[in-house]
Amino acid sequence: MLEIRSVTRRFGETVAVDGVDIQIAEGEMVGVIGRSGAGKSTLLRMINRLIDPSEGAILFKGREVSSLKGAALRRWQRDCAMIFQQFNLVPRLDVLTNVLLGRLNHRSTALNLLNLYSREERIQAVAALERLDIAHTALQQAGTLSGGQQQRVAIARALMQEPKVILADEPIASLDPLNAKVVMDSLADINAREGITVITNLHTLDTARRYCTRIIGMARGKVVFDGAAQALTAEA
Ligand code: ADP
Ligand code: ADP
Repeated sequence: MLEIRSVTRRFGETVAVDGVDIQIAEGEMVGVIGRSGAGKSTLLRMINRLIDPSEGAILFKGREVSSLKGAALRRWQRDCAMIFQQFNLVPRLDVLTNVLLGRLNHRSTALNLLNLYSREERIQAVAALERLDIAHTALQQAGTLSGGQQQRVAIARALMQEPKVILADEPIASLDPLNAKVVMDSLADINAREGITVITNLHTLDTARRYCTRIIGMARGKVVFDGAAQALTAEA
């Protein structure tokens, strides 16, 4: 479904991602692990076009993502939802409005400016919050929630996009173990029940082993391991 073909990304002298080839099938739950600076974040950002490769191509269902423009690009950025380490909510807006922002790429700019969401969209947003057990926070300012709650709001916002792929960049790196578990359980549940492909950067092998069916190990921009979680031994 998703194919990363000989992709390299340079930042000046730095080669952040170096000739990476990866193919991901629909419904996989993939953990990307590696030290800080290994290129994990750059890889995810290239998939949803926050940045572009210096060389190589990224294809989704056979279409080259890097050539998408305008409406087709918005469509792609709606199909692949992104979750960040620092949640990236709008802290002064209430939780429900933050979740509705997942609809941005579904709508015309005028509707967005007017802040017009349909009754169905509001019902869907509340359902997403209920699913993540945080519906009671719907009218609170997002910035006042705990980190674990904020990340669940970000997941609800991602669900509002009705994505095919969720890209999570260190989703639990800022959370305590209990909240980390809740967030990873939620991502695994969404993957299992909805069949949404999940690709998540993680900095601990343990978490990747527990939740992911496939682990990709990166070091200095290259893929150094790619296989089933059980196959990964400590020295890798
Ligand atoms: P990871 O997510 O594995 O920590 P990154 O993809 O963030 O790794 O970074 C890989 C390398 O690319 C690092 O050396 C980092 O400093 C560099 N890098 C990432 N983004 C930029 C950028 N916008 N400008 C310059 N260098 C960058
Ligand atoms: P992480 O290690 O969590 O992947 P970083 O802290 O390395 O993230 O990077 C955070 C942000 O800074 C990213 O947007 C990344 O692209 C950018 N960045 C990373 N390294 C550099 C760099 N050397 N020069 C400029 N921007 C960078």
